Order: sequence, then structure tokens, then C-alpha cells
Amino acid sequence: MTDQEFIQQFRLPEPVHVTRPAMPDLKDYVEYLTGIWDRKWLTNAGPLHEALEREISSFLGVPHLSLFCNGTIALLVALEVLDIDDGEVITTPFTFPATTHALHWNRIRPVFCDIDPETLNLDPCRIEPLIGPETRAILPVHVYGRPCAVEAIQKIAEKHGLRVIYDAAHAFGVKYNGKPLVSYGDLSVLSFHATKLFSTIEGGALISGSDLQRKRVNFLKNFGIADEETVVGPGINGKMNEFQAAFGLMQLKMVDYEIQNRGAIAALYRDGLKDISGITMLQEAHDTEPNNGYFPILIDAERYGVTRDELFAVLRQCNILARKYFYPLISHASCYASLASAAPSNLMVAERVSRQVLCLPIYGDLEPAVVRHICRVIAECRQSVSRHDDGAPIYRQARV
Ligand SMILES: *Cc1c(COP(=O)(O)O)cnc(C)c1O
Repeated sequence: MTDQEFIQQFRLPEPVHVTRPAMPDLKDYVEYLTGIWDRKWLTNAGPLHEALEREISSFLGVPHLSLFCNGTIALLVALEVLDIDDGEVITTPFTFPATTHALHWNRIRPVFCDIDPETLNLDPCRIEPLIGPETRAILPVHVYGRPCAVEAIQKIAEKHGLRVIYDAAHAFGVKYNGKPLVSYGDLSVLSFHATKLFSTIEGGALISGSDLQRKRVNFLKNFGIADEETVVGPGINGKMNEFQAAFGLMQLKMVDYEIQNRGAIAALYRDGLKDISGITMLQEAHDTEPNNGYFPILIDAERYGVTRDELFAVLRQCNILARKYFYPLISHASCYASLASAAPSNLMVAERVSRQVLCLPIYGDLEPAVVRHICRVIAECRQSVSRHDDGAPIYRQARV
């Protein structure tokens, strides 16, 4: 079969994106809007903001939560509230750019640490050699919502007097050892961006360790203003408005259903891909109640016969819009590439994984038939690859 025939056979009529937000009933949103119009209270800790903050706290089981306009500003404030505004912070290169940029904006030098090949999170065995006199904190990411080695990281932090801030942007609703994953570390930050499992269109939250700390976070997200005549610190504008909060209140009612359906879709993928040589799925994390926010696979080009980039291109031609989260590594960005810790030889696992990973479409309303179709495309794409006489694959040129 030529590439063209392959695509004709497998192309879906409509694009299937890697994710799609669960949209609440428009009539319900209009009802919230009517309330906002009547009150004329648009932002600054309005009643919907306060209601959402309470409801998310109770849903997640964390008492000291502050809502934010987005997750990135929440990361900046997390560093500021811990007085981390110089020196170095150890972090992962296998993440969304916001994690590293938050350090840069607080004038902190990121120190990149390699990841564990099983969890794809910061490898705890690689952290200690990177600790020096300038090290202030560790900023790990629960990548794809899968728990970091939280106990090992805590031990290292305590031994060296370091703070731990988790970028938990993917970890909404995940439980680890029966506890909310966002309750580990000194602070955790969530993102409620439209592409995340739970969304307020743009939004985020910071989970503090105490009520006192939460009060300080709340000052900092409102320009440091404590009252009309007092500014207690160098704050920023991190507030969530009433329109976002209304969307969040409606999304929260749908999130259990979303998590449950994504679980069913993940199970379909696991079944559909299990016998394809060269395609690896991540082990289900133990002691974890997952949220199945993402469905990453790793492609071993030698065994699968097609490279990750070739499969990506074929899927794209078939209207299956998988994403290379996280390629390229943020350590390759020009603003960080000259750091000693950004050298690819220090980040061998992250470098390899970033060239092998592909996140497949997953969201609550994704049709099971489409999931089975995607699995079939991945299986057939491998089988239709041309081979030399000795059976070695002739890698497809990405002419599709
Ligand atoms: C989405 C994301 C962020 C940024 O969150 P925003 O709400 O978009 O600012 C930070 N870190 C990670 C790992 C993310 O995926």
C-alpha cells in the first residue's frame, strides 16, 4: 500500500484533537451571566469566585487553596511566597515551558535534572549530585498527572534544607496513597487551562501548607494589597474573574464523569495497543487513583519500524492530531541551552523520551469507535512499512 492509499483508507472526516473541553449547558452559563449582570461584580473575590474556591477545596480535599487567573502566575507566586528569588532550583526539562519560565521570571537559575525512564518524572537518584550552595528548592512536575517519587524527594529536601514546589498542572483529582497528590510538598500549583482535564477557560490554583500562608498568597495575587492603605509585599495581578469562576462551577459538576470516561478510553487504548511491537505504554502508577488526563505512548523506531515523527505525520494526515508532549525539551530553548545542566549528555533519558513520545487523543466524549480506529491506524502503519530483503525496515520518508 502506498502512503496515499493508506491515508485514503484511514483518514477521518473531522479532525480529532488531542483533547477537547467538556462544554457545560449554555443555558446554565447564561443563568450565571444574568447573576453577574445583576450584581455588577465582575472580579476581585466575587461570590462565584468564593463559591468555586470552597467547592474545589472540598472536591480535592485540600483546605488552603487559592484560585488564580492561570497556573503560570500561581507558579510565580509560589516561588515569591517562599522567598525564593535568587540562586538555583532543580527541575525537570521534560515539561511545558511555563515550569522553567516561572524560575526565570523570579531570577532563579534552573538546574535541569534527568528523568526516570519508568515514571518520566524527576529521577530522585539524580537530584543530590546537583545540589550546591546556591540551591534553594526542587520544582518537580507530576507529568501527565502521574505521581513523582514524593517520599524520596521529601527526604532529600529535608536533608538539605530545600523547599519543594510541585507543578501539579496535570494532577487535578489524582490521589496517591489515599491522599490528594496536591497535598505533597511545601506547595502545589494546578492549571485550569482549557486544554486541561478541569478548566475555568484560563485559570489555576495554588495549594498552600497553612492558613497563614494562604492569606499571604491571597495578598500577593492582588498586588500585595492587604487593605486600602497597606501593601505587604511585591504582589502581582493573579486574580480569577467571575466569568471564569462560573465556568468552573459548571465544569466541576462534570469532572467525575470526565475522569471516569477518560479511564474507559485509556483502557480501550491499553487493549488496542498491547500487542504492537515497539509501542510502549506507561505502567499504571501503583497506589494511585489516576485522572487519565493524557495517554502517552513511546515509539521505539527500531522495533516498530516507523519513527515517532513519521507516525505523527501519518496520524496528522489521517486527521488524528496527536501531540509530541514534551518535545523539544525546554532545556533546548535558546534562553536555557547554554546552561551547563542543559547539556544533552546530562539528560540522556529525557532526550530519548522526548524523541519517542506521542500523546494520543483523550477526552470524555471521544467515541470508542474512534479510539479503536486510532489503534488500528497505529497497528497498520507499522505493517504497511516497506522492508529490505533481509527484513530491516526502510524508514518512510515523511512525505505525507
Ligand atoms: C498547562 C501547564 C502549565 C501552565 O498553566 P497555565 O494555566 O496555562 O498558565 C504549567 N505547567 C505545566 C506542566 C502545564 O502543562
